Amino acid sequence: MSKILLVEDDKDVISVVRDWLAMEQHLVDVVEDGKTALEQLAISEYDLVILDWGLPLLSGIEVLQQYRGRGGSTPILMLTGKGEVQEKAAGLDHGADDYLTKPFHMLELSARLRALLRRASGQTSNVLKIGALELDHDTHYVVHAGEQVVLPPREFALLEFLMRHPNQVFSAEALLERVWHSEADIAPETVRACVKRLRKKLSMEADNSMIQTLHGVGYRLSAPQ
Ligand code: CA
Repeated sequence: MSKILLVEDDKDVISVVRDWLAMEQHLVDVVEDGKTALEQLAISEYDLVILDWGLPLLSGIEVLQQYRGRGGSTPILMLTGKGEVQEKAAGLDHGADDYLTKPFHMLELSARLRALLRRASGQTSNVLKIGALELDHDTHYVVHAGEQVVLPPREFALLEFLMRHPNQVFSAEALLERVWHSEADIAPETVRACVKRLRKKLSMEADNSMIQTLHGVGYRLSAPQ
């Protein structure tokens, strides 16, 4: 599961892409013009941005230039109209990671997104392995110490996020922002409860867990020493 910003002003495209990505368990925020896109990118962290070329207020290429200009490094997939070969080249020159020409099939968009997310996380496959823990994003399969563990979507998403960022510490607020919807009305307590359930299902004792609590700081997943 990833957090994706969709910047698109075509209602039909928005509806199809949003529904599809939601079905694939991604969290999707939608903004419909270039100016709002830059504002949204300044206040929220995303794993990936889908950016349309033709947008009101600021064009996709202007958004791209300004975002990269201020150091934004989130992978960006640009959507371009038919046959805009020159625009594609310009987009890639200005720091787009990939592009897709409209109309496109959602299966193709999914495949491109997966490749970009893999590249961004430095993973070569969608199977993550840390210590005795193994998680397969595509099949939703988790194995710990040789035993299959069945996790509901939110716990799976939290585990996947921590496994994609091993040894990094995240506050409860940061996890809410990245794993839960930013606008959702939930408290840091939700994260604590989710971590607790996850540890229990993975048969990890709190003081000997791969998911560590750093009191007053946050959570971290590390391989056992
Ligand atoms: Ca457009």
